[in-house]
Amino acid sequence: MPDVPVLRANAIESGYGVLQVLWGVDLRVESGESVLLLGANGAGKTTLLRTIVGLLPAWRGHIELNGQDVTHLRPDQRVRRGVAFMSELGVFPTLSIRDNLRMGGYFLGGRRVRQRIREALALFPDLAAHPRALAASLSGGQRKMLGMAKALVSHPALLILDEPSAGLAPVFVKQVVAGLTRVREQGTALLIAEQNVAFLPLAERGYVLEGGRVTLSGDETALRDSAAVRAAYFGI
Ligand code: ATP
Repeated sequence: MPDVPVLRANAIESGYGVLQVLWGVDLRVESGESVLLLGANGAGKTTLLRTIVGLLPAWRGHIELNGQDVTHLRPDQRVRRGVAFMSELGVFPTLSIRDNLRMGGYFLGGRRVRQRIREALALFPDLAAHPRALAASLSGGQRKMLGMAKALVSHPALLILDEPSAGLAPVFVKQVVAGLTRVREQGTALLIAEQNVAFLPLAERGYVLEGGRVTLSGDETALRDSAAVRAAYFGI
């Protein structure tokens, strides 16, 4: 029997008030797989991610995590079923690194939180060196690392990231890609909404979203070769 995907979204429709943004989106992430969600500004990437994690209701369609229907569950109930979300906002600047990480595990017991924080810090040596430093004192790249580490404290099977490169200089984007490579290597599945092609090598597969519909899906080569991706990302 094939493995159950960590995420299966079927025929998702969603939006804001009378504005429909998503028009029947199908998307799947297998266990341990990393998947890129590409699309221009306004294509609906953030709306799709927020619908998957439960911050927006799905108007139609179904969302399954590890084979369980979570379409009508609250975001915190979805976190307990193995999904974590790193939004563009990320971390609390006035809290220390360690306290930010504690927030990521707020529903776990004390001993488990400490263990998970140790595991998350092991992936990000820059953070492990100064756990009492305020998040406000970190560089842009380090803040993204902290956002990832915070999301990992809940020990998700799937980590969802909305534009982790947003606002970062290229040198920090490289650090974020390297950090995510380590996260992937320890078995966490990734779903990453991005506009930056630096993330293409990280992904086994990807989807292109245009006008709230999936217009292409395939492996890295298929994505690179597609006219839509070339026009949108490489400017050719
Ligand atoms: P971006 O990278 O610019 O965030 P995106 O692909 O993530 O693009 P969304 O943020 O999902 O796109 O936006 C899709 C559409 O929904 C856009 O037309 C946008 O204006 C609209 N939209 C987004 N957020 C809201 C909101 N809170 N209320 C009303 N409309 C919204």
